[in-house]
Order: sequence, then C-alpha cells, then structure tokens
Amino acid sequence: MTAKATSHQFQAETKQVLDIVVNSLYKDKEIFVRELISNASDALEKLRRKQLTEKEVFDENLELEINVSTDDSSKQITIQDFGIGMSQEELIENLGTIAHSGSKEFMEALKGDGEKNEALIGKFGVGFYSVFMVAEKVQVFTRSWKKDGTGFCWESDGGGDYSIEEAEGQRRGAKIVIQLKEDFSEFAKEDRIKDIIKKYSAFVQFPVSLNGEKVNTVDAIWMRSKKEISDEEYEEFYKFQANEYEGPLMRMHFSADAPLEINSLLFVPKRNMEKMGMFRNENKVALHCRKVLIDAEPKGLFPEWLRFLKGVVDSSDLPLNVSRETMQDSDLLRKLNQVLTKRFLRFLNEQSKKEEDTYIEFWNEFGMLIKEGAATDFTYKEDLAKLLKFESTALDAGKLTGLDDYVDRMAGDQEEILFLFGKSRESIESGPYLEALQARGWEVLLLTEPVDEYVMQTVREYKEKKIISADSEELKLEKLDQEKEGETLGKKEIKSLCDWLKKTLEDKVSEVETGERLIDSPVCIVGSDGMGGASARRIMKMMQGPEGALPAPAVKLQINPGNSIIRGLSELKDKEEQTANLVAHQLLDNALASANLLDDPREMIARSYQTLEKITSG
Ligand code: ADP
Repeated sequence: MTAKATSHQFQAETKQVLDIVVNSLYKDKEIFVRELISNASDALEKLRRKQLTEKEVFDENLELEINVSTDDSSKQITIQDFGIGMSQEELIENLGTIAHSGSKEFMEALKGDGEKNEALIGKFGVGFYSVFMVAEKVQVFTRSWKKDGTGFCWESDGGGDYSIEEAEGQRRGAKIVIQLKEDFSEFAKEDRIKDIIKKYSAFVQFPVSLNGEKVNTVDAIWMRSKKEISDEEYEEFYKFQANEYEGPLMRMHFSADAPLEINSLLFVPKRNMEKMGMFRNENKVALHCRKVLIDAEPKGLFPEWLRFLKGVVDSSDLPLNVSRETMQDSDLLRKLNQVLTKRFLRFLNEQSKKEEDTYIEFWNEFGMLIKEGAATDFTYKEDLAKLLKFESTALDAGKLTGLDDYVDRMAGDQEEILFLFGKSRESIESGPYLEALQARGWEVLLLTEPVDEYVMQTVREYKEKKIISADSEELKLEKLDQEKEGETLGKKEIKSLCDWLKKTLEDKVSEVETGERLIDSPVCIVGSDGMGGASARRIMKMMQGPEGALPAPAVKLQINPGNSIIRGLSELKDKEEQTANLVAHQLLDNALASANLLDDPREMIARSYQTLEKITSG
C-alpha cells in the first residue's frame, strides 16, 4: 500500500455475506464470470443512458464493450468495461456495503437450504463478492464517467478490509483484475473462460471479447420467431435477463402489430420471494425499442400486482431518446401497459385450462398477487376474477376450482355464488352454515385465507351473479319441500323463546329468529352486509390485526326449533331460569365461534366451568 492508500473495513453484514458466499454458497464457482460480466454490461448500459442526457462524458469516444483477458502464467483474469465507472464514494458505497436495506433479513433467510440460498443471492445483489470464491486478491481499477474525476484502485483479499488509493492514467469504466487462488487457476485458461462466456453471456447486449477476439453475438431473442427458439435458449435468456439460477415457471412470447407494435417475452419465476415475507418483488421487464434498451426497469409498464414478471418488451413505437421521467407518465406507456396486461391475463387464463398443474403451481406461489389485483384494480376485475382459485364443497380437500367452473355447476335454483370463510376447510365443514346449503345441493367455495373474503367482497359479482358469504342475510332460502321429520316447537313456543333469548342476551344480539338455515345445529349467526355483519367484522379484524380491540357487535341469532337443545331450552327457561341463562349464553358463544367472531374465549371458559360444576354437583 502506498502512502496515499486508505484502509477501510467492510460493513459487518457485508463481511458476513462475504464469508457465506466464499465458503458455502455457490456450487458452481464459474458463476463469478457471469456476475462480473453482467455488472460490466449494467455499467455500459448506464453509460449509454448518460450519453443521451449529459453533455460531457469522460473518454467520450471509447467503445461500449467488454474486454476479458486471461494470463495463464501469472494466474490472472481481467474483466474490463468502458462503462460508467465509480468515484471513491461509489466504491465504498457499492463494494464495501450491501446496499439493500434488508440485509438482516437476508442473513436470516440465508440460514435456509442451499438451493434457496442460490436463488436468494442474485436477488440481493451480492454478485460481485462471488469473485472471492476463486480469488486470492481482487483489484478494481476504475474511473467515473464524470469529467472532473480521478482514477482509483480498490483492493481486497476478501478478508475483513479493503483499501482504496488513487491511480493515475485510468480509462473510463472499471477493470477488475483477479489474482486466482492456486486451486482455481483453471479460470486463467482461455478455453475454459471462452466456454463460460458462451454459456452465460450469450445475451449480453454489448460485444464481449476474450484476449482480443469477439466471443458473443448480440442477440435479441424476443425479435425472433418462436419456432426457431429452443426451450434451452429461452431458459438461458431468462437466467441471464432475470439474474436467476433456475429456469422460469412459465413464459409468454408474443408479438402484435396493432394497436401498437410489440414484441415481448415475459417470464414468471418459479418462486415468489415475497411469499417468504422478505421483500417486495421488483418488476424486471426491460423496455426496448428495436433491440435498443430504453429502460432496464421501467416504472409503470405493468400494474403493481404484476410485479413478479421478468423479461423484455420491445416496441418500435417508442421514441429512442426520451428521458426516463417523461417516459414514465407518457400515454404510450399507459397504452403498452393496457395491451400487455390484458394479453398476459389472457395467457394466464389459457394456461389455467391447458396446463392446469403448472397453473396451480403458479397460483400457489403468486395467487396472493392476483388476489391483490382483484381487490384493488377495477380495470381488470373480471379477468382477474376468472383466475381466482378456491377449495370448494364440490371437490375433494386440496383440489381447487375457479369461478367459471363453479358457475357451470350451479344448481338451477341457486342465484348467488356462495362462499364461506373459516380458519380451515375442516372448521367450515364442522360449522352450522353448510348443512342447509348442502341439503339443497348448493356448492360453497371454502375460503381460508383472511384476505380471500376481502377479495370476494370487492369482486362482488361474476357473470352477473352476486358473490356473497353464505352467512349473509342476503342469502334467501326457501323452505325445503321435504322437511325433516320429528318434533319441533310450536309457533307460540318459538315466539316466547325468541323473546326470552333476546331479553336474556340483551345487547349481545340484535334479533333472534328462526329460519331455513339450520337442519341439525341448534343455532347460528346470520351476518348482514352492514358494518356489524359477520364478514365485514372479520375484515375489520383482519385489517386491525390481532391487537385491535373491537366492541362486540350485536348479531342476529337464528335458532333451530327442531333441535333437541332448543326444545329443551324452551322448557328449561320457565323452570330453571339460572341454568337456562347459562345455556343461552353458551349457545351464543358457540355460534360466534363458528362464525369466527369469538374474540376472547375467557368468558366462555368461565361459564363452561359453572356449567360443569352444576352437572358434577348433581
Ligand atoms: P448488483 O450488481 O446486483 O447491484 P454487485 O455486488 O454485483 O451487486 O455490485 C454492487 C454494485 O457495484 C453495483 O450495483 C454497481 O453499482 C457497482 N458495480 C459493480 N461492478 C461495476 C462495474 N463494472 N462498473 C461500475 N459499477 C460497478
């Protein structure tokens, strides 16, 4: 180190990541070549954009290319680009720290299995550090694009620290000089590196040369005809473009001439990282115009809820030298957004029919985003509703159905699409609501995720059929022709019991009535669409989280006069009012629990002890 060099410590998290990357992460050491070439390509791309907007760029006339050279005898490999380069601050910021704010979460996530780790590493942008798997020492010679800058050399052995010193006579961009570890000297061999570049960097949009000889052909795969492209080519392109380690789950390659000229190649990844609760997906669909990149991550090209998409959109209708900012709120972008979104939703719908298994895989990973769209984006409501999948009483547990199939199966006398929400399929099935519907042969969708109910409330209708919760008051049930035989209370007794229950349960119930909903169970709550309604309340609870305290709403209680407990209660209330009181409250709590409305079971538990005491003390 010279006198001018300064020494720096890696940020603590960076150090940890470095250790993980170096010691365990990648099985394939060769991947560092792809990481560095991909960084070089990004740097060139950024420079190209600068040239569009900045008057002065250092080393103006340098070619936008990547030069790789190997030196077998000194066990070195060098990767040089004439891209945007880095200032001293940028060196510290970019190579000394992990920019991602969620680095702690990243560390947590990394404790997972190896395969997941590999997928994670690309997402968090720790690509550069992969070089330390094979390097004894790495030097980054760099000079920023800014006219009045200086050149620097960053150096590290991948231990705890690195140094930065000024370096005279640098060209614009970055030159990474890698001194290989003894074990990895193979990477200083020209043939080996040539193979790697061919394999990984076929899609780099800038020329790459190795020891002076050009190795890649710049290929815009999305402009070619589908028939000419093999699955492997698509997969390699995806891995390159999305910086992914595994192939995609689905791809859509589509071209159109009207209303806009579009060539697009879109991919759905295999995994939804957002599902792991770590960070938001970012839309990585690059926008090109006749093969020239306009924006690598344009905002507004797709709706938010399609943020998992990767790939390329190319439209010759785009102006070439428009700034990102003006692009972002242009009519053209909005139009592209509309056409592409419509087309992609149609594609998903086709997939759900033709490739059901793949679609279900998609649904399990990304269904939450489709639901987000259905609940928030009115424009595509019908198309999105078509894509929703739920369990249903008509299917075995674990199987899913969509609204189209549901509507096809609907019984002749059924008017609404019905759903019920519960913690699990079993809990819905054991509740009181299904019996009346099943007796009529009506199918019910079984919703088990808190957000599902909200989604259904916003979608509201499908194919002119209302979508309602089966505990809603809106559901009108006619009397069944074949009433269940057996004893039942008379009109007068019913009236007196209902009045008594209303009086006893006071403000906990707004109304007590009989109806057609119950066949075996003694009681249930009937919701209404008002704010006190069961499903509206569940949604409020969901939004407030478990801590949110809501005043107990007055609910409407329906009783089954044919049920033996109800019949018993009708007599008990006149003989032993105190016991009858216990029974009434217990019945209400049971009904609330079945409707997922019992917030706090303490009172119920205390009461059931009272009851038990009564029984055991004879
Ligand atoms: P990622 O590329 O995913 O952001 P890396 O660890 O590979 O993560 O790189 C970190 C940062 O270092 C990059 O975001 C970029 O700002 C900077 N960088 C890396 N290589 C170069 C290069 N060749 N030229 C200019 N900047 C670079």
